[in-house]
Amino acid sequence: MTSDFPEFSAHLAALKAIAADIAAPGAADVDANSRFPRETVQALQKAKLLSAPVPRELGGAGYGMRQLAALCSTLAQACGSSAMVLAMHYIQVACIVRHALQSAFFRRYLQDLVRDQYVLASMTSENGTFGETRTSICAVEREDGHFKLDKDATTGSYCEHADGILVTCRRAPDAPGSDQVLVLVRKGDYKLTQTTSWDTLGMRGTCSPGFKLESAGPEEQIIPGSFADSSAQTMVPYSHILWSSLWWGIAADAVARAAEFVRASARKSPGTVPPTATRLAEVSTQLQAMRHNWLALAGEFDELNARPGGMQELLSIGWALKMNNLKINASESAPQIVHKALQITGILGYKNDTKFSLGRHYRDALSAALMISNDRIASKSASMLLVFKDN
Ligand SMILES: Cc1cc2nc3c(=O)[nH]c(=O)nc-3n(C[C@H](O)[C@H](O)[C@H](O)COP(=O)(O)OP(=O)(O)OC[C@H]3O[C@@H](n4cnc5c(N)ncnc54)[C@H](O)[C@@H]3O)c2cc1C
Repeated sequence: MTSDFPEFSAHLAALKAIAADIAAPGAADVDANSRFPRETVQALQKAKLLSAPVPRELGGAGYGMRQLAALCSTLAQACGSSAMVLAMHYIQVACIVRHALQSAFFRRYLQDLVRDQYVLASMTSENGTFGETRTSICAVEREDGHFKLDKDATTGSYCEHADGILVTCRRAPDAPGSDQVLVLVRKGDYKLTQTTSWDTLGMRGTCSPGFKLESAGPEEQIIPGSFADSSAQTMVPYSHILWSSLWWGIAADAVARAAEFVRASARKSPGTVPPTATRLAEVSTQLQAMRHNWLALAGEFDELNARPGGMQELLSIGWALKMNNLKINASESAPQIVHKALQITGILGYKNDTKFSLGRHYRDALSAALMISNDRIASKSASMLLVFKDN
């Protein structure tokens, strides 16, 4: 993983230090107060980690999926919300990098992002589209080289803390709901009115209430091409692989706490294997399988992208099914693994104030199945499987 990216070891070491020294100590407070993990994000900015997906020729690190997934999964072991913020930011940067480099405006914007370490958020959800990201009600209006875009979003993670938001909308007021584009709206060009609260079970630090967005700006901020392509080729694979890696990170920290608990029990009765060790062996099998699933697909994604015609293959049914399967599998596995870890730690994991506490992990992991509803994804897979033959 490091041979093509000599600076990766240093970046990973910097991220591990941020995870241990800043994100982990702050995680309980971020969770309890449903507050943005500002100190972690500031440290990521200082370490220039927010420009990790930006190509090297524009000043970034040019990391592929494997490197980004390693960073997100590592941070998740300290704070799930911080890792989700990092992953969602990377997904937005990747959409620009992979679909807008032909635009002088976006090349300059990415150079500015490298210098100023902008934080980018996402608005795909919308009141009235019921969790279906591939349809929009709102539309971008263009006139004299400028756009105007208003959206009523059900959920907008850390939008109040972002420097820009990528917003999905219809290409024009007379376009059908599925003919979408992505528009970058920049801080100063938009007004946000919060419409709902964010008092949730988990992922509380993502600060994701509903917002009404009113925005305007130069037309060049509309990402060229169609969201149908940027969704299939970038937003979906980056979301499902990076999310899976971070859900694994949450589960991995839960298992690490359970393992520590088992070792402590073993120390109390030297020469015997505590009964909880068998449960630990079982859960470590599931954790390993989960890890290999996202690792393999991150590697496959990077290999596809290095191949001529790879971008085209990302539009295939076979690839879409792999992404759906990964997402469903990882989002179901993470809470199951945390649940098993809780059976090992018992009451000390159930309490919120011990070194074995697992409440935050459990609640954070429960969001995974809802972030693009698994039922919605499964019904799309069901339709695809009617016509797909795996050769
Ligand atoms: C932590 C977190 C952060 C988020 N951040 C953002 C963000 O930054 N930006 C953003 O735009 N959105 C964000 N979202 C929203 C998210 O991406 C989804 O849009 C949202 O969670 C879906 O809401 P829903 O459950 O009401 O949707 P729906 O998909 O409408 O699901 C509602 C219910 O219908 C069921 N259902 C749906 N389709 C089917 C089907 N075909 N068959 C059977 N049952 C079905 C589901 O199982 C569910 O029970 C975030 C969500 C979470 C949890």
